[in-house]
Amino acid sequence: MKNIDIKGHMESDQRPKLSIIIPMKNEAVNIDPLFQRLFPVLHDLSVPFEVICIDDGSTDGTLEELKRHLKSHPELAILSFARNFGQHAAVMAGFEQAKGEWIITLDADLQNPPEEIPNLVAAFKEGHDLIGTYREGRQDPFFRRFASDLVNRMTRKISGVSIKDFGCMLRGYTRDIAKQLAHQKDYRIFIPALATLFAKNPVEIPVSHAPRTAGVSKYSFLKLLSLQLDLMTSLSLAPLRFLFFTGSIIAILGISFGFLLILLRLILGPDWAAQGIFTLFAVLFILIGGQFIAFGLLGEYIGRIFKEIRGHPSYVIREIYRGRSEDSQINKTDGSHP
Ligand code: UDP
Ligand code: MG
Repeated sequence: MKNIDIKGHMESDQRPKLSIIIPMKNEAVNIDPLFQRLFPVLHDLSVPFEVICIDDGSTDGTLEELKRHLKSHPELAILSFARNFGQHAAVMAGFEQAKGEWIITLDADLQNPPEEIPNLVAAFKEGHDLIGTYREGRQDPFFRRFASDLVNRMTRKISGVSIKDFGCMLRGYTRDIAKQLAHQKDYRIFIPALATLFAKNPVEIPVSHAPRTAGVSKYSFLKLLSLQLDLMTSLSLAPLRFLFFTGSIIAILGISFGFLLILLRLILGPDWAAQGIFTLFAVLFILIGGQFIAFGLLGEYIGRIFKEIRGHPSYVIREIYRGRSEDSQINKTDGSHP
């Protein structure tokens, strides 16, 4: 019977219902174990699907490893980036290319178990258009968990978006939301938070979490810090306002402090004033530090404007490979905005 064969294996003209998007930077060692768990789960779902892997400028043979699977997995598509553009750009490229009605993003390192995918699909079937997840029993070093907690709190405050866990990338988006996100002009946007703008019926479900199977985390402390700065400045102008208020408070304090110094000088005499100079140094350094932070923040916003004006694409795709034979030709596209 023809229907039996439809289980997961699409007829070539059948449009996938589910698109899985997996950004990959140097994940060659994880591909085999990932696919061994992912594909059986997807086949069992009995909906036509595609798996889009984005090779985000890997240098460890991730692309070759992926290409090896094209024959055995006709549902596989590979986007190969011209260089490293970052996880979020990779996900955006996936959104742009995805054909499915339901789109799920996944990490390549098996930290988000593929076995959770049916739960997300169930939420889609219930009519949710944005499915967030939060990690239960998170398996990351203490430092990472602490930093994430801080990031989550800060982001909730600044953005006004109440998401339990911004960092968990196992998420579901309907096609509508994904395409709207893909057409955002923002250069380095933070997908989970931005997606909430477009959602009508979002939901958050718990998922389990595992330690990384192999390879190393692509996020160093510095990269996390810059991600946080991105997040903060891409979601709101609150930091600029914060600058203004802190500046005003510091100025008022400074003026009061000046009066106090004059007063003490008059009461305690010139000897005291010479020693007080060190206090002034301390105050000066604090103010200078504050100014640098302020400049940095301003620079961040101006930098965004600058990048916008230059209009560089957020990513450049060098090649696209598809497991299905009829469109396995190689094309090139980029994420530039019209
Ligand atoms: N990733 C990517 N480009 C990057 C950094 C990361 O495509 O520049 C991918 C990476 O291969 C993985 C996912 O994003 O599939 C999450 O990265 P990682 O596991 O290193 O992050 P962590 O779990 O440490 O937060
Ligand atoms: Mg990881």
